[in-house]
This record gives sequence, C-alpha cells and structure tokens, in this order.
Amino acid sequence: MLRTILLGPPGAGKGTQAVKIVEKYHIPHISTGDIFRENIKNGTDLGNRAKAYMDRGELVPDELVVEIATDRLTKADCKNGFLLDGFPRTIFQAEKLDEFLEGRGEKLDKVINIDVEKSALVKRITGRRVCKQCGAGYHIENIPPKKEGVCDNCGGELIQREDDTEETVLNRIDVYNKQTRPLAEYYEKSGIIANIDGNKDLEDVLADIVKALGD
Ligand code: ADP
Ligand code: ADP
Ligand code: ZN
Repeated sequence: MLRTILLGPPGAGKGTQAVKIVEKYHIPHISTGDIFRENIKNGTDLGNRAKAYMDRGELVPDELVVEIATDRLTKADCKNGFLLDGFPRTIFQAEKLDEFLEGRGEKLDKVINIDVEKSALVKRITGRRVCKQCGAGYHIENIPPKKEGVCDNCGGELIQREDDTEETVLNRIDVYNKQTRPLAEYYEKSGIIANIDGNKDLEDVLADIVKALGD
C-alpha cells in the first residue's frame, strides 16, 4: 500500500522516475498532463477545454483538474495505492485531494519533492523527446535512444511535445514557483515530505526516492 505524490518543476524528472517507481511498488501512475494530452489527441471536450492553457504553459483551471483526478482515483486499480504525477499543483487542488481521501478514510503516505536547478530544467525540457506510440521518455543528450528519433521499446517515432519550447518552459517554471512551490510547505506541515536532489543521475535519484519510500 502506497499513496504518494511526485512534486517538482517541469523537467525535474517526475515522469521518468514515475515509470520506475510504479514498476517497483505495483501501483498505477496517474499523470494529469498525460490525461489531458490523451484527451487532446482524441479531440474530446475535456481536451478542447484544456488545450489553450497548456499551449501557453498556464495551469488548467482547478475545478476541471480536480474532477478528472478524483474521478481517476475512484477506479478499482487505486485500491492499493497510486502515484500522482503533476497533481496537485495548487493549494486548492491539494485541499480538495485531502478532502477526497479523507472521505474515503484514506490519506497520503508520502510526498516526493524533486528539485532541480533552473538552467538544467530548461535544457532538460527543450531536449525532451517522447515516443508517439508508447509514451516512453528520452533526452537528446542525457538519455538518448539507441537510434536517433526512434523508440528503443517499440520502434515508434520520437516527437517533441508542443509545449516544450524555451518560451513556454520559462513561463511554466514561473507558474510553478508561484502556484505550486507553496505546496512543499503545505505538506511539510503534515510531516510527509521527502526532499530529493533531482540534479543527480537517474539511478541516484531513484535510489534516493526508494530510500524515502521504504521497501
Ligand atoms: P517531468 O515529468 O518532471 O516534467 P521528465 O521525467 O519528462 O520530467 O524529464 C524531463 C527531461 O529530462 C526528459 O527528457 C528526461 O529524459 C530527462 N531527465 C530526467 N531525469 C534526468 C536526470 N536525472 N538526469 C538527466 N536528465 C534527466
Ligand atoms: P510537466 O511536468 O512537464 O510540467 P505535465 O505533463 O505535468 O508537464 O503538464 C503539462 C500541462 O498540463 C501543464 O503545463 C498544465 O497546463 C496542465 N496540467 C497538468 N496537470 C495539471 C494540474 N494538476 N493543474 C493544472 N494544470 C495541469
Ligand atoms: Zn515507444
């Protein structure tokens, strides 16, 4: 049983670490960003409502995000825990999540707060590539695929996310600092936060996270 959240600025490595964490702890990986991108791809009403905000690097309105996140958490596969990636991102969202869990007699076990220097974040995001087919993440310099532009896992095409431009990234980092960073203090109060240095290599970051979560 593990109910946990990954907190950290865009490019901190949340998605990358999430893949490893859910493999180890057998819990579902819930990324609100992935849910929105899937909806945009499928042209749903939710996708249409979220797209303009995402393109500008702004947050999607709280009510919309809280609804899709809590809806996802009621699914059967969350019975033994979950890993939330990119949610909550505001104090309002965090309070709504606490209320939702409380209503079910549940609570968060841990908040993993990954931080990375700003200059490294910009390099990570502008060099990020994702597989169009299976969603696997790469970096053109740090974590390159064996063959340029091709996914190691499935042979799918590697593409750049539309919001991974330098301009949008700088705005997303500002938005993070203003609206999401205060969450660290919010969770500090409940004593469940683990601060992780995300500047390290992938494997070292993962080892620090596993140490914080326990076996
Ligand atoms: P987030 O989900 O927090 O936005 P990602 O996991 O997508 O971040 O990582 C952003 C980019 O940085 C990706 O291209 C990823 O391959 C790369 N990356 C992730 N972790 C590390 C690391 N520890 N060192 C170097 N590059 C990393
Ligand atoms: P990253 O980790 O690289 O910042 P995400 O995939 O988590 O990217 O999110 C991409 C975009 O989706 C965000 O910039 C925002 O517009 C929207 N989004 C995702 N999760 C949330 C959330 N919890 N609250 C508001 N907007 C969100
Ligand atoms: Zn792939």
